[in-house]
Amino acid sequence: TKPSYKWRRVLLKVSGEALAGDQAQNIDPKVTMSIAREVASVTRLGIEVAIVVGGGNIFRGSSWAGCSGLDRSSADYIGMLATVMNAIFLQATMESIGIPTRVQTAFRMSEVAEPYIRRRAIRHLEKGRVVIFAAGTGNPFFTTDTAAALRCAEINAEVVLKATNVDGVYDDDPRRNPKACLLDTLSYQDVTSRDLSVMDMTAITLCQENNIPVVVFNLSKPGNISKAIMGEQVGTLIGG
Ligand code: UDP
Repeated sequence: TKPSYKWRRVLLKVSGEALAGDQAQNIDPKVTMSIAREVASVTRLGIEVAIVVGGGNIFRGSSWAGCSGLDRSSADYIGMLATVMNAIFLQATMESIGIPTRVQTAFRMSEVAEPYIRRRAIRHLEKGRVVIFAAGTGNPFFTTDTAAALRCAEINAEVVLKATNVDGVYDDDPRRNPKACLLDTLSYQDVTSRDLSVMDMTAITLCQENNIPVVVFNLSKPGNISKAIMGEQVGTLIGG
């Protein structure tokens, strides 16, 4: 019998902003726990889940570059370190409910987490472990969205599921235009030519070149993460 879910291996991108929830603190433990529970429910079905975490809730390189002489590269390294903090927090939460989880960092900090080793990451996934990729791509001037697209391509995951604080992609800014419509599907072309702020250009073109579909959805609605992972209609699907 054919399984009802669509994806076998997914790359879930969780932005730093989403981790913060509506808390004044950087991380909302209710959010990390709900992510852990929903991921647990799908890994039990045999779907392999890799996660890329952002760091914008703690530090965003581009907003600090230039302050007190901080150059962009140094600022971005701080940003990448911020993603490691989020990754360790999320790992702890996952393991507290019994999901075996490994963190792999794009640059070495081997006392804290494994270094990124592609084949090892794939092996973890095959064994049913969740792998959290931290420190983005390991390079300044990139984003964790680009890291998500890159890791997705590298580990042969089938889709990037981008969990955000919005329901999906709108045809206009819903904060300014109350009549803005949520779009069900979009082509890569639509995203790049209409400059819809879904992902940065580097990330979206990397997805396009590798035919990786992207689903943008709201993480704060209960059940959405598992729906997205199960391949149910949620948010906006970009592809084609
Ligand atoms: N960053 C980087 N290279 C990468 C990924 C991230 O330099 O490959 C830095 C960059 O400064 C960025 C910060 O890490 O602002 C946090 O990542 P991002 O802004 O993508 O997080 P999110 O918006 O998803 O919370």
